[in-house]
Amino acid sequence: MSKICILGSGITGLSVAYYLKKYHPTAELIILEDLKSSGGVIASNEFGDCTVEWGPRGVRPKGNGQLVLEMVEDLGLWDELVFADDKAKKRYLYHDNKLQILPHSLFSFLRSPYLGLILKAFLKDLKAEKVEDDETIAEFVDRHFGEDLRRLFFDSMVSGIWAGDISKMSISATLPFLKKLEARKGSIIKSMFGYKPASVDAKAYPKEITSKALFSFKNGVQTLVNKLKEEFSDSIVYETNVKSINFEASSLVCENGISYHYDSLISTIPAYKLSAFVTDQMAKELNAINYSPVGVLNFQFQKSQLNFDGFGFLVPSKEKSVVLGMVANSNTFPIHGSKGFHVNTVMLGGARYTFAKLKTMDLENETKLFLAKVFGKEIKIDKQELRLLEKAIPQYEKGHLDRVKRIENTSPTNLIILGNYMYGVSIIDIVTKSKECAKSIQ
Ligand SMILES: Cc1cc2nc3c(=O)[nH]c(=O)nc-3n(C[C@H](O)[C@H](O)[C@H](O)COP(=O)(O)OP(=O)(O)OC[C@H]3O[C@@H](n4cnc5c(N)ncnc54)[C@H](O)[C@@H]3O)c2cc1C
Repeated sequence: MSKICILGSGITGLSVAYYLKKYHPTAELIILEDLKSSGGVIASNEFGDCTVEWGPRGVRPKGNGQLVLEMVEDLGLWDELVFADDKAKKRYLYHDNKLQILPHSLFSFLRSPYLGLILKAFLKDLKAEKVEDDETIAEFVDRHFGEDLRRLFFDSMVSGIWAGDISKMSISATLPFLKKLEARKGSIIKSMFGYKPASVDAKAYPKEITSKALFSFKNGVQTLVNKLKEEFSDSIVYETNVKSINFEASSLVCENGISYHYDSLISTIPAYKLSAFVTDQMAKELNAINYSPVGVLNFQFQKSQLNFDGFGFLVPSKEKSVVLGMVANSNTFPIHGSKGFHVNTVMLGGARYTFAKLKTMDLENETKLFLAKVFGKEIKIDKQELRLLEKAIPQYEKGHLDRVKRIENTSPTNLIILGNYMYGVSIIDIVTKSKECAKSIQ
């Protein structure tokens, strides 16, 4: 029977443990966690009589999202699931002093104020050529669709999803789907015709489910973590900080003096933490992965205060605001609100700010003033809380995939490196890679 040691019990550590148990039921698992609890950045809380998220707030049920759904079903959590309300399909951009709705259907596309801009961008794309090398998302989008579309849509998408800087992030690592389409015919639009997405290594769920924008749980995303934690309660050792790892002897020693031997070691801790245990060459690569800081402000207000109907809005960086966007949580998952209150989240900061700078700013007040500008009136907030995450989201900068290869090539043979800085930041990417990894272990 092999002994597998996992460092970290965020969603990466827990999901790889889940698949190891499935594919290697006799393997002995030990999960070492630095803190008193599991889940990493995933944290859902009661907030007055509402529910809020401090980390991820949902998973797309489409494509590889079905892998997560399958895990949810297998864990007996199906009845805890909630799907995004279809009414919250509308997404907005805030720029030039107003909220503009993004096209979400053919009808809204035809009536969109962005129609001219989108058609112009499509025409440009039809003439685009293939480029093999990696580029920044900005370079790629400028070649295919032009600067106007980049400044509005792609810029705000990159700050909204990755809290990232479009002029630094890698197209191949962050939006591999676009790069794949380009490799077919040059033009993204032309390549979309007849393109068949890769098959999913999971049960296929019906369209009523996969057509929903997102899923979460009645009590938030942490429900998934809590269940996985329960499954592995005998394997997780909390408050255990690794002091040193001897890769040749396949053993590690913790600060408390306890040592562990293993056959395989899987690291799911952040890059800047793993770097303390590896060769200088590998540490250099790991430390070169930047993480952006994010402020998460959750706030609750009376429903009568605001009549906003969408999922939320994003703010392009040309607006020069510290606000990256707002998610109207209880529009998306009404169960997370209450009879009288809405609960929303504003994301702040991102790659254009340092953590030190964010700490000096009055982010609550900046948010209050910004929302007053967006909605044309001050919203009276009944309850709010701000949390600052110093290294919230790893940035896949240009050349990231080459860096990942160099990390893999310099890694000791009995070390497997997972975590959100390697193969994808989203829960879907993490679960997909965890399954692949557990299946491939001998
Ligand atoms: C604000 C925010 C919003 C997000 N929204 C979404 C979303 O809506 N949808 C989505 O799919 N994704 C979202 N993401 C991304 C996703 O949530 C993360 O990428 C993912 O949860 C990271 O999981 P992880 O296990 O790789 O890392 P982490 O969550 O960082 O977990 C790492 C674990 O390792 C432990 N650890 C650290 N050092 C050591 C050590 N030396 N020894 C032992 N243990 C250690 C930590 O305590 C932690 O438990 C969001 C992320 C953030 C920050």
